[in-house]
Amino acid sequence: MTQTVPDLSGKTALVTGASRGIGRAIALALAKAGAHVLALARTVGGLEELDDEIKAAGGSASLIPLDLSDPAAIERLGPALSTRFAKLDIFVANAGVLGELAPLPDIYDEIWTRTINLNVTANWRLIKTLDPLLRASGAARAVFLTSRVGGEEPRAYWGVYAVSKAALEMLATTYALESKLTGIRVAILDPGAMRTKMREKAMPGEDPSTLPDPSEIAPVLYATVSPDYDGTAERFVFREWREKGLA
Ligand code: NAP
Repeated sequence: MTQTVPDLSGKTALVTGASRGIGRAIALALAKAGAHVLALARTVGGLEELDDEIKAAGGSASLIPLDLSDPAAIERLGPALSTRFAKLDIFVANAGVLGELAPLPDIYDEIWTRTINLNVTANWRLIKTLDPLLRASGAARAVFLTSRVGGEEPRAYWGVYAVSKAALEMLATTYALESKLTGIRVAILDPGAMRTKMREKAMPGEDPSTLPDPSEIAPVLYATVSPDYDGTAERFVFREWREKGLA
């Protein structure tokens, strides 16, 4: 479909989990719209490939190799960015892990803790460290990636992942309510099943060619970061956009 690409030139956008999958597609879409992308993940090779692709598309990026399971590294991030950037206009909280699909009594302690830490606590820490830069934008957009199982459709065996996404949605909603007067607008984005490594882990028997490519999320993403968006943690659901022929 033909797609209207917004003008994000002059804007700075931080995308977590930008080394592959949906985060990488989001980073590329924002760069193609003119934003300077701060691409964060652990895998340097994945970030460098993204950087090459962004440059080839005429965009620009800065790479941030960072492990979101390290609280001190997140705490340093905001102050470090402040030395180079006066503001942050877009924050996409995309990085996430699946944990383990299993009945609740069978989930290992370590996997429960790691999943909640990454999917929820790291995003709270990111809000803490980035809030001054987001406020400085005057019209920042913060977008949190969720899943259907996080509230809309509870599902057996998706335990810790579902719990983490439900908590993430409440985190996003709380931030939206607290930020009303700052110009920051918060959106929740449900990409649905997409052709990525996480989906492959969740559904090993599935034919990936039946799933949308992450790049297809661009029209919905652009709506979440639009200056016209004035909602309070509104849910943007890729599946619904697709059904309406909008994505
Ligand atoms: P993915 O392919 O597994 O990619 C996950 C990204 O998160 C990678 O870039 C990974 O980078 C990063 N990440 C993981 N642990 C990290 C850590 N400790 N520190 C920094 N970065 C870390 O997943 P995806 O399918 O693209 O999912 C992206 C988001 O969409 C997630 O929030 C997911 O819950 C949500 N979602 C996905 C689907 C789907 O069908 N794919 C459906 C609904 C919702 P490194 O490994 O390089 O650090």
